[in-house]
Amino acid sequence: MEIMYSSTRNAQNRVTASRAILNGLAEDGGLYVPEQIPALDIPLSRLAGMTYQETAFEVMRRFLTDFTEEELKRCISCAYDSKFDTEEIAPIHEADGNYYLELFHGATIAFKDMALSILPYLMTTAAAKNQEKHEIVILTATSGDTGKAALAGFADVPGTRIIVFYPKDGVSRVQEKQMVTQKGENTCVIGIKGNFDDAQTGVKKLFADEDLKQELAEAGFCFSSANSINIGRLVPQIVYYVYAYGRLLAAGKIAEGEKINVVVPTGNFGNILAAFYAKNMGLPIERLICASNENKVLFDFFQTGVYDRKREFKLTSSPSMDILISSNLERLIYRIAGNDAEKNAAFMAALSQTGEYRITDEMKKVLTDFGGGYATEEQTAEEIRHLYESDGYVIDTHTAVASNVYRRYREETGDSHAAVIASTASPYKFARSVMTAIDSAYDSMDDFALIDEMSVKSGVSVPKAIEEIRTAPVLHDQVIEIENMKSAVKCFLRMER
Ligand SMILES: *Cc1c(COP(=O)(O)O)cnc(C)c1O
Repeated sequence: MEIMYSSTRNAQNRVTASRAILNGLAEDGGLYVPEQIPALDIPLSRLAGMTYQETAFEVMRRFLTDFTEEELKRCISCAYDSKFDTEEIAPIHEADGNYYLELFHGATIAFKDMALSILPYLMTTAAAKNQEKHEIVILTATSGDTGKAALAGFADVPGTRIIVFYPKDGVSRVQEKQMVTQKGENTCVIGIKGNFDDAQTGVKKLFADEDLKQELAEAGFCFSSANSINIGRLVPQIVYYVYAYGRLLAAGKIAEGEKINVVVPTGNFGNILAAFYAKNMGLPIERLICASNENKVLFDFFQTGVYDRKREFKLTSSPSMDILISSNLERLIYRIAGNDAEKNAAFMAALSQTGEYRITDEMKKVLTDFGGGYATEEQTAEEIRHLYESDGYVIDTHTAVASNVYRRYREETGDSHAAVIASTASPYKFARSVMTAIDSAYDSMDDFALIDEMSVKSGVSVPKAIEEIRTAPVLHDQVIEIENMKSAVKCFLRMER
């Protein structure tokens, strides 16, 4: 069965999987969604015996139906190799009665690596398949982790260039250093004077700019996206939920068919949407718990059915979740509106014009799969300290948000399902916040001293990704106003002075 992808804003706009990956965003500003969610028609007991790569193949071939078996297998074996510091790729750590699915063992030590190590291969394969003559320019807005993971994935990939916009004062020191030291002739990293939503909105505008598109084509370029709006990022993220189920089954932690809860620290709603797709494929998942930080727009949405972005934007210790416009929620809205592009387009128009929309009661009823919660800055810090003291396990701030939300959820509901908590970043990436949560006296130490101290405390050696930036020279120092994003793009592509 061939799976086609259509835009969430116009049902007539249908393309193949490879075309959807190349385009990134649909021309009408919508996101591509699979017209059906394929069934995971493999016995669960077989999952238990599969490697990460085998699981990836079984999941991805069901979605990316116009890729051949050879193409997909090649993409998978190039992506999930020794760039990861463990053969398991996504190991599970049991602590305090929950299963922390560590998604940070890739090149840039955040979960974005899970998808961004394969996206460049999917994209260049898709370009060849579609006889794309233009050089692909990846435009990306980042709240900190996507940028580095995309840069690492696309650096020096022939036929591609990558431009990353990040909020100058909205990422951690380590995150910024990781990006501005990026090597590769085809890479460009630019700080903007604004927050992540400004960067994301700016990038979406560039995608929608018809004149720019024309000019690019004449100069031999076309845009694509490495953000989680690209279906080529979402599909690889389904894999690790399926894999986690198999590992728990293999370890005898759950019985075959037993349902699990999945808890996801959420920003742009990509990671949790992948878990939702896994559930819809037939993976035995009971509830999907969406965890927010103090930017709790999603929590409020799940409570009230009103999505309201008109609120103060807060900078928190979990910057990759500092987001008020969660792009991928659009895919869920489309789905619960009965796969109705017209209805969805109306909600999205309301969001951009008035800053809010309210879903119908009927739509709200379909949201019972989801639960929501949020953690304050104090609760996040407390959670880090708690897990360290009870289990000697050091988690990052994002994972701590999820862990704390779930702790309170379990206390309130008594829900006893086994729970997989998506552990989305290495604590080394947020060393200052993590170490000062454990003991405030650490605040006086400098960043790299803190990193060494963390290694002593956690017994986990400092990852290569961190060692590399200790001494690496800064190669990108451009900081611009939001209005100048377009000319910065043209400048990097040498389309204007
Ligand atoms: C991106 C990111 C998130 C949020 O994931 P979404 O898919 O955007 O919801 C959470 N934690 C970390 C560490 C991230 O990098």
